[in-house]
Amino acid sequence: MTDPLVIIAGGGIGGLATALTLHQIGVRCIVFESARDMRPLGVGINLQPNAVRELYDLGITADELDRVGLPAQEWALVGLNGNDIYSEPRGLLAGYHWPQYAVHRGRFHMLLFERVLAAIGADAVRLGSRIVGYRKASNGAVSARIEQASGSTAEVHGDLLIGADGIHSAVRAQMHPTQPPIHWGGAVMWRGTTWAKPIRTGASFVGLGTHRHRIVFYPISPADPKTGLAMINWIAEVTIDNTDGWKQLGWFRPVGVSDFVHHFENWTWDWLDVPALLRGADSVFENPMIDRDPVSTWHDGSVALLGDAAHAMYPTGSNGASQAIVDARVLGAAMVREGVTQKALGEYDAKLCGPISELVLRNRSAGPFGLLNIVDARCGGRFANIDQVIAPEERAQFMAGYKAAAGLAIDNLNRAPPTISRGSQIGPLQAI
Ligand SMILES: Cc1cc2nc3c(=O)[nH]c(=O)nc-3n(C[C@H](O)[C@H](O)[C@H](O)COP(=O)(O)OP(=O)(O)OC[C@H]3O[C@@H](n4cnc5c(N)ncnc54)[C@H](O)[C@@H]3O)c2cc1C
Repeated sequence: MTDPLVIIAGGGIGGLATALTLHQIGVRCIVFESARDMRPLGVGINLQPNAVRELYDLGITADELDRVGLPAQEWALVGLNGNDIYSEPRGLLAGYHWPQYAVHRGRFHMLLFERVLAAIGADAVRLGSRIVGYRKASNGAVSARIEQASGSTAEVHGDLLIGADGIHSAVRAQMHPTQPPIHWGGAVMWRGTTWAKPIRTGASFVGLGTHRHRIVFYPISPADPKTGLAMINWIAEVTIDNTDGWKQLGWFRPVGVSDFVHHFENWTWDWLDVPALLRGADSVFENPMIDRDPVSTWHDGSVALLGDAAHAMYPTGSNGASQAIVDARVLGAAMVREGVTQKALGEYDAKLCGPISELVLRNRSAGPFGLLNIVDARCGGRFANIDQVIAPEERAQFMAGYKAAAGLAIDNLNRAPPTISRGSQIGPLQAI
């Protein structure tokens, strides 16, 4: 008899966090990733304290995270007149026991990839292998159909299949064949990075504008001591009429700054020059802000969904990647209790599918940026004294409500026992 095997579809942040977690608790797994090679793709993402806690428990150190990003210190919303609407400290400064990190998505992804190879072995991630469907066997096992980049096909057998294959998940499409198409609410995002002087704390996330027309920016590297410049991740965003649906071919394409900079041409203050920030980028990508309608379950017998495949969400709350990491850990904890079984998948689903589906809808209605909607509705986004538009208590209450929904209520998180207790094993001890 061989040890149970978990097949993971997708080697993104969710799939790799799952592989590391399963290895830590002594469960065999193989990741099948459609990309032919792993490259440091993407720009900035945030790792919230709830995810950093799990990364630390996986043995990833602050030093390693410091090499791919920096601890975030502040989150701020600013009106079109350049005045603050709201600001709060983040991470350790806010009282969490763990920092929040603003990282380069690609470099963080490569960190996880190298960790997986070092811990599990060079064969742990099969590149150029797209999972196109699954078949549940009558004995409770599962087979996944794989299309190789070479054109050949294969079938792999395991005890469980985890669909961590992102927003266009093939596993989810089979699990929920009647799911509606991708949802696009009309927001178009242009993303890039520019070397520039960081403002405010030097590690501040700033959302400036209105809920339909804004720029978000934050550094994802410390400032170079010689030049004072940091890598600033920015997302410029405009909401347009979506009645006819997204007309571009594909969801992600390189564009020139001249295609969209006119939306931000007058956005200059003595402390910020938005057109210069946008023009300073080497390359820019356009993509619509999309998510998926929640589904009733992420679980189908020996198959479960995880990460974006389960809960693709608008990036308004900066918690897509963090939630994928938390999913992996909650799944691992369920396996510690129930073994490599369908029951464990059911427990994982029962714990997360409902509340995280609610978070998807909360982010769709602007997430923490909802404060901008309120300010816009009350004064068109222009104000002299924000307290006369929305009282400090109302602002604080709004943000507390969001954090509780996202699993980020400070006291709750600080008090919570580890998701997976140190040394928990359901197989032989693994070095990580
Ligand atoms: C290339 C890339 C760049 C990104 N850049 C950003 C960014 O700049 N900012 C941001 O906020 N978010 C970005 N994201 C999304 C962000 O990483 C995710 O929202 C979050 O990390 C959750 O991760 P995930 O692992 O669930 O999904 P994903 O990160 O989407 O990972 C899914 C993985 O599965 C693979 N895959 C897809 N289909 C199959 C299949 N059928 N079989 C096998 N493998 C499959 C994909 O190649 C991918 O590696 C990016 C995602 C990708 C894939």
